[in-house]
Amino acid sequence: MSMKLKIALYNTFLVSLVMILVLVFMMSMSSSVIFSGTKTQLKFLLHDNVEELYWRRGELMLDDVELYENHITTLVYTHDGYHIAGYISNIEEFSKIPLTHGEVTTLEIAGTEYLIYDFYVDGQENDAVFLRGIASVLEVSATVETLFFITVLTLPLFILFAGMGSYAIAYRSMKPLELIIETAQDISHGDDLSRRIDLGAGKDEIHELGDTFDIMFSKLEEAFIAEKRFSSDVSHELRTPTAVILAECECTLQGEVSHGEQREALLSIQRQGKKMQQLITALLNLIRLDNGVHKANFVEVDVSELVELVCEEQESLLEGDCTLEMDIPQGILATVDYGMLIRVLSNLIDNGFKYGKEGGYVKVSLEEIGSSVRIMVKDNGIGIPKEHLGMIFRRLYQVDSARNQEKSQSMGLGLAMVEQIVKLHGGSIAVDSVVDVGSCFTLILLKQPKEKLEVG
Ligand code: ADP
Repeated sequence: MSMKLKIALYNTFLVSLVMILVLVFMMSMSSSVIFSGTKTQLKFLLHDNVEELYWRRGELMLDDVELYENHITTLVYTHDGYHIAGYISNIEEFSKIPLTHGEVTTLEIAGTEYLIYDFYVDGQENDAVFLRGIASVLEVSATVETLFFITVLTLPLFILFAGMGSYAIAYRSMKPLELIIETAQDISHGDDLSRRIDLGAGKDEIHELGDTFDIMFSKLEEAFIAEKRFSSDVSHELRTPTAVILAECECTLQGEVSHGEQREALLSIQRQGKKMQQLITALLNLIRLDNGVHKANFVEVDVSELVELVCEEQESLLEGDCTLEMDIPQGILATVDYGMLIRVLSNLIDNGFKYGKEGGYVKVSLEEIGSSVRIMVKDNGIGIPKEHLGMIFRRLYQVDSARNQEKSQSMGLGLAMVEQIVKLHGGSIAVDSVVDVGSCFTLILLKQPKEKLEVG
């Protein structure tokens, strides 16, 4: 049974139950109201009749007495119980009931309930009499009962409307869920990760669920595309050195080659082999970071000292005429993985030199901002075109492989690793760059990472 039907049935059942309970309650209330109303009316009318009663010259005068009024019958008895006036069917039954004064009794005859109220009237010099008022409760409540029957007859109609209404509401609320299921099934069967649920505007839980699924699908699609691109980039990167190695081997093996040429070929093969080895090592390092094989070892370190050390090391390796400027205040401490932070800084400074201009500069500055430290690596080099800025942290991404050709170590993996390490530290990295003006990489690290992320 579908959820829609279950909800509709449940609602209909509840509505019917509530209606029946209300009806029963109303009935019991109305019968008690009618009962007491009839009683009051009976007493009132009988007292009226008592007022109208009089004797003239010893004779009882009943001219002004209403013997039947408003469903109420008045019977007149002598003080010793002899019936003298008034009539009602089944009068014998009523006459059997002993006469009292000021008391209301009930009597049921053939399913009809009667209220009986007696009143003793003193005749002074004449004989006293009893007046007996009789009211049929059923007669008075007939209208209410008709109403009850009308309600009972229309009840199925109410239940039908309640059922249909509940089903319509359930159908409308379930529709988005069906769309979610349909889209998820389409994606899983058809591999079309670009499909979205797109429930449109709405703030209820189902819309929230749909939006969450859409975000999840987008992330899955992104991850899937990145994975595909990565595999194709790796194959592409390995294809060139492999082709060079094979070509060198073929040339050397085919023709008559001198010892010098053989050596040249072997050196070329060695260069390509080294390139492949570097690429594979860098890839492995990244994958290990990703999979948590490399564990981060967080310790409190003097970041000022660490940055200074990396700068000096990079300066000593510098080949061109670039200069390295430092703005590093002393004594800034933070909890980081020492080795990983060195790799991040070396990479950023190295890039600054690699993509710098002749006679240019790389400036490294460190600053303490509240509970974070900010490290900036700025250069006045060739810069990065705007359209590439969002992609430079991707694995194997190079802005322009032609402009990087002469940069021996360029593989497009450095910034991917930098970003990965920064993430492990719960920090952030941003880049600002203008072509031919320079680039600035800003790294923010928490002095005390919220969670000392144990990688692996
Ligand atoms: P690579 O090994 O190619 O340097 P990275 O991941 O370090 O790889 O950098 C990715 C790309 O971003 C580089 O190919 C380069 O084009 C660009 N890039 C990185 N740093 C800079 C910089 N300081 N100035 C200009 N371009 C840069």
